[in-house]
Amino acid sequence: MWEQNIRQVVPYVPGEQPKDENKIKLNTNEFPYPPSPKVLQALQDVSLDSLRLYPDPAVVDLRQALADAYQVELEQVFVGVGSDDVIANAFLTFFHSEKPILFPDITYSFYDVWADLFRIPYKTKALDENFHMRKEDYYEENGGIIFPNPNAPTGIGEGLGFIEDILQHNPNSVVIVDEAYVDFGGSSALPLLEKYENLLVVQTFSKSRALAGMRIGYAFGNKKLIGYLNAVKFSFNSYTMNRTSIAAGVACVQDNRYFEEMVQKVITTRERTKKALQELGFSFPDSTSNFIFATHKSVPAEELFEALKQAHIYVRYFKKPRIDNYLRITIGTDAEMDTLLAFLETYLKGR
Ligand SMILES: *Cc1c(COP(=O)(O)O)cnc(C)c1O
Repeated sequence: MWEQNIRQVVPYVPGEQPKDENKIKLNTNEFPYPPSPKVLQALQDVSLDSLRLYPDPAVVDLRQALADAYQVELEQVFVGVGSDDVIANAFLTFFHSEKPILFPDITYSFYDVWADLFRIPYKTKALDENFHMRKEDYYEENGGIIFPNPNAPTGIGEGLGFIEDILQHNPNSVVIVDEAYVDFGGSSALPLLEKYENLLVVQTFSKSRALAGMRIGYAFGNKKLIGYLNAVKFSFNSYTMNRTSIAAGVACVQDNRYFEEMVQKVITTRERTKKALQELGFSFPDSTSNFIFATHKSVPAEELFEALKQAHIYVRYFKKPRIDNYLRITIGTDAEMDTLLAFLETYLKGR
């Protein structure tokens, strides 16, 4: 029986990428506006002939651009094919203990998949009744800690004091903070890098930088920590980042003005959407991300999810304990949110 000897896993299921032409896509937290025009220019500047050649395995151009933008040193930056690739490499590198790693029960649903894939023991810690993490849950012995801040799918961000408290209690394990949504108003753990050698801060171009399609993620840590991560990456696949992604990434990071302006635009739309949803009878934890995790006072989330889908409006619904009456709604353009809100208003009235 050859099947006894293979690695059998239950894969992560990403949000739907519907083919539907006139859809409104608010289900996978992509950015609603295109990336900086400088990205297009950079892509056009990649010569056809250069594609014959392998890219730079150390990805120095992109790492240096990130180091400059975030005022850290080149050796403190790691890059990968989306933050999923960065985090998978981090699991493989840093979570190598018999003791379980810890993460929240309601969180990014890829963590348990990687843990299973790499045979890493894990324990989940229940969020409190307001969907906040309890710092005391992370004081017990463990083989590592990971959580998103802001958390997904709740949108709730914890402050720097909270993260520092967890670091202070865990000098013997690596603490990974997944900051996929931090640019929309969260507190980044970056200022703690100098003080804690066991901290890895992971970010991505997929949400706030409008480049989910290019697959670029990155992480910051101290040089020793990043050195261990690179050793594993170079033992697995040297050429992960292709030439076009590197060029696009550099141009994107260098256009900070466009980045800040567009992120602010999404934040403004989010705040307006919060008010409108409240008026329609929804409630939600206060989001500092580019999505809202909303529940309605009388109409079940699953019903709304299906009705929205019929109307070609795609949001995310998780049929899981504790969160099966919530919808995760990505902040789209103002026009998209208006269509969503108008549909909900009509639907709720007509019901
Ligand atoms: C979207 C997301 C990621 C992965 O994004 P990439 O596209 O792989 O960079 C990682 N963590 C969280 C919490 C996310 O929501």
